[in-house]
Parts: sequence; C-alpha cells; structure tokens
Amino acid sequence: MGMKSDIKLIDDNGLRIDGRLPNQLRPIKMEVGVLKRADGSAYIEWGGNKIIAAVYGPREAYPKHIQDPNKAIVRARYNMASFSVDERKKPGPDRRSVELSKVISEALESVIFTERFPRTTIDVFIEVLQADAGTRVAGITVASLALADAGIPMKDLIVGCAAGKIDGVVVLDLNKEEDNYGEADVPMAIIPRTKEIALLQMDGDMSYEELITAMDMAMEAAQEIHRMQIEALKRKYTEIEEVE
Ligand code: UDP
Repeated sequence: MGMKSDIKLIDDNGLRIDGRLPNQLRPIKMEVGVLKRADGSAYIEWGGNKIIAAVYGPREAYPKHIQDPNKAIVRARYNMASFSVDERKKPGPDRRSVELSKVISEALESVIFTERFPRTTIDVFIEVLQADAGTRVAGITVASLALADAGIPMKDLIVGCAAGKIDGVVVLDLNKEEDNYGEADVPMAIIPRTKEIALLQMDGDMSYEELITAMDMAMEAAQEIHRMQIEALKRKYTEIEEVE
C-alpha cells in the first residue's frame, strides 16, 4: 500500500486509470476442468491475473498421525511462479505465501463439509502464473471452482473479492497501480448465499464509513462473481452431457 505519490488514480471524469468506474470489476474469465490428472481443476483470468487451481482428494491423510478422526484437513498451497511478477520472484515458499496459504485454507474450509471425510486431506494447489494485484481473492474464487469440479460437497461456492480506497474514493477490485499507490486494500472472501465473511484483511487506512462502503461493494460484486462461477460450471458439465 501507498507510498503517497503524485500519480493520479482517478481522472476528472471520475474514471480509473484502466477506464473503470469505482464500483466496476476488471474483466473475469473462468474455465472448469483444465487438468486431467487432478480430481478437480479450474483456471481464472481476472484483469491481469492468471491463476490455475488443482484439487486432490479427499484422500487418506498421510502420515497417519496428522489424520483428524472427525474431519478432513483442508490444505491450500498458494504459490507464485517466479515469472508471474515484474521482478523475478525467488521460487519456493516465503513468509507471504505461507500466510496466504493458511488464510486461504481456512476460508475454503468454512464452506466444505469436512466432517463427511474423516481422516483425509483435501489438497488445493493455487498456482499464480501472472500477478496483477488481487491474487489471493482470485485464488480463492478459482479454488472454489476446482473444489466443485472435484465433487467436494460445499455449502456454497465461496468468492474472493477486494475493495479499497484510491485518491480518496472507495473502489472495487484494485489493480496493481491502485494497490501500489492507493490508500487502502481490503481483500475479502464471501459466502454469497448467506453473506457470511470468511476472510477480511485490510492493508492501509480508511474511515469506518469508508470500510463499510468498501465491504458493501465487495458483497454486491460477490453475487455477480458467484453467477459467473455457476455459468463456468454449467459450461463444463453441459458440454460433457452433449458428448455422451
Ligand atoms: N507482488 C509482487 N511480488 C511479490 C508479491 C506481490 O510483484 O513477491 C505483486 C503482485 O502483482 C501481487 C501484488 O503485488 O498481485 C499485490 O500483492 P499482495 O501481497 O497485496 O497480494 P494480492 O493483492 O495479490 O492478494
């Protein structure tokens, strides 16, 4: 978040540097079932982000001592490819990716009926191929599709979406420049049907009223992203019916 700068993020017409309105999402494309060896998989392009998710499981947890006799363990691993960012990222886990893996695991677990699969793990690999801000929320959104593709029972498809503040204006879905030079970024994971919040983080600063506005914006956008997820699932599963 923002080194304060002279860069103008909102122009005289109230538009953002990529031409969006404050409450407008970047373009989003989703595809389900992109990897044949995974139990479930999906791909998302969200603005300049390109992310793939692969799900394996539920499968017997190994070594045995990590097994939970009452439920499945959800293990998400968020990884950024070294070529995904401007300045080559050193391969392998770092503090950021370990933290993101943890919070993403917890967000996904909140919608999965884990008690139906005792002693198992559900592994979710999130590979960021190209990053342009908002990768954790796009990662949650695509992971949720991969979980559905794997047939894992969930109470809803979870959606990630961020809002924030740039040039004094509350906006939806910050891109990289906005993330760099804006005042605040608030990534959220939302369960659209119940409007529960399964992840809420904030970087930067904004007023209480602005935070509420940002959360409302993300909540509304989550409903739209949820419809896109359902469309993406329908596209895969109706195609298969046609082939058979
Ligand atoms: N980023 C980067 N190198 C890194 C980590 C992040 O260039 O090692 C960029 C990347 O484009 C990322 C953005 O900074 O999407 C914002 O990162 P942040 O940690 O806020 O997470 P995100 O918004 O992607 O969830």
